[in-house]
Amino acid sequence: MLFRKRHPAQEILSIEGLPLPCQLLRSKRKSLAVHVRHDAVEVRAPLHISTADVLVFLDKHQRWVKRKLAEKQQRAAESLSLKDGGQVYYKARALRVRLENASRGGVEIDGDQMIIRGPAISASKAEAVLKQWLLQQARSWLPPRTRALAEYLEVGHKLKDVVYRKTRSKWGHCTAGGRIQYNWLIMLAPDGVIDYMISHEVCHLLHMNHSPAYWQSVAKVCPDYQRYVGWLKQHEHRLWF
Ligand SMILES: [Zn+2]
Repeated sequence: MLFRKRHPAQEILSIEGLPLPCQLLRSKRKSLAVHVRHDAVEVRAPLHISTADVLVFLDKHQRWVKRKLAEKQQRAAESLSLKDGGQVYYKARALRVRLENASRGGVEIDGDQMIIRGPAISASKAEAVLKQWLLQQARSWLPPRTRALAEYLEVGHKLKDVVYRKTRSKWGHCTAGGRIQYNWLIMLAPDGVIDYMISHEVCHLLHMNHSPAYWQSVAKVCPDYQRYVGWLKQHEHRLWF
């Protein structure tokens, strides 16, 4: 009978110079890999590699790990917060949130402040008020521009509906049936980014894919699209609530 020595599922290594604990997970894999989570650094390693070799590997990647950690911490510090004194990134400007009691709900931009009003206002009520405000903007801004671009590209007959949905992973979506869905959080973004989103979805009425031909049609109606794609990559973590 064969007795296999059981490996501990997880070891914690503490590495000099790293502010977070490092979890070492061994499994039946062939190579070493390191991931930076929000609260730990995780190293995945083959079963029989020595801890000394893992440390050498980590040492080699220390700069990358530190850069990733700093990025994550900065992103966490920049994230949207709807409590009084919190922050919102609206149209590429960092605004301070002010909550104000009022009989009616509403949002007002005043200088570098976003004032969110409502009865017995709290952070969670502010969320509902801001959602309504953004939805209202989405409803008045997105359909006419979507329709106009679809007509211009001669695919107006394919556009059936414009709907709004906050999904965790997407800014927009276009179905084969001609229904375009927008994430209303996009209304927090600058107008150029919103217009890029509209171009992105409407061009799917021409090509239901992300082929080179698709991106060529996007570039025709939105020549700066790469800039907006870049903006979203860099800032989208600041728009979610
Ligand atoms: Zn797409």
